[in-house]
Amino acid sequence: MNEAQRRAQYLNALGIQVWTQRHKPVAAGAETAAATPVPVVTNPSVVATTTQHDVALLDWPALQQRVASCTACDLHSTRTQTVFGNGNRSAQWMVIGEAPGADEDQQGEPFVGRGGQLLNEMLRAIGLRREDVFIANVLKCRPPNNRDPLPAEVAQCEPYLKRQVSLLQPKIILAVGRIAAQNLLQTDITIGKLRGQQFSYGGIPLVVTYHPAYLLRSPAEKRKAWDDLCFARGVWSGTRAAS
Ligand code: URA
Repeated sequence: MNEAQRRAQYLNALGIQVWTQRHKPVAAGAETAAATPVPVVTNPSVVATTTQHDVALLDWPALQQRVASCTACDLHSTRTQTVFGNGNRSAQWMVIGEAPGADEDQQGEPFVGRGGQLLNEMLRAIGLRREDVFIANVLKCRPPNNRDPLPAEVAQCEPYLKRQVSLLQPKIILAVGRIAAQNLLQTDITIGKLRGQQFSYGGIPLVVTYHPAYLLRSPAEKRKAWDDLCFARGVWSGTRAAS
């Protein structure tokens, strides 16, 4: 099977029969809204806060251990286990989602279940295997009933994610879903408007696409996700050419 046939097979698996690839060059200086999230301690009286300097020197095993024993917010009392993230710790691609759901909370891995399978297909559509990327979430613990993360929870968890990014040094971050995109970029702009642009998270190019769970509910949007993935691949190629 040649490359085109392989891609056609994966696109078919995504439910996209006909497509056009958008060639959208990343213009020099196209980075907008450079977002360098700043840790926020919303309640200085809270003892168990996670601060950036606390984790900034931890290596992967120590960081994973720190996350596993975290009690910095109330989510620790309802989780089954933390979901640190997994994948290739030398990956050039980092995928960041919102938070563990029920399946992830049970299994301790991000993006399992139907959404995870669709994410795998999305990655394969651009020639990536799941084991080629590192996958993490904004939150490491499941919010009860899959409610949206609270700002204080995001603030407490952020140093962990920042340390993961810093250890990984990915060439590109793919933010999947509105919650991930808005929290990483610290904006209220809709995901529809954030798509198709290159942002920066701590100096690393960041591209936004729809969440697989949303795509399962709204399959007509898969074509846009395909456009986003092609755009992300173009950004990634650009970073390789530049280095
Ligand atoms: N949704 C997410 O954003 N992350 C997961 O790990 C699972 C579902």
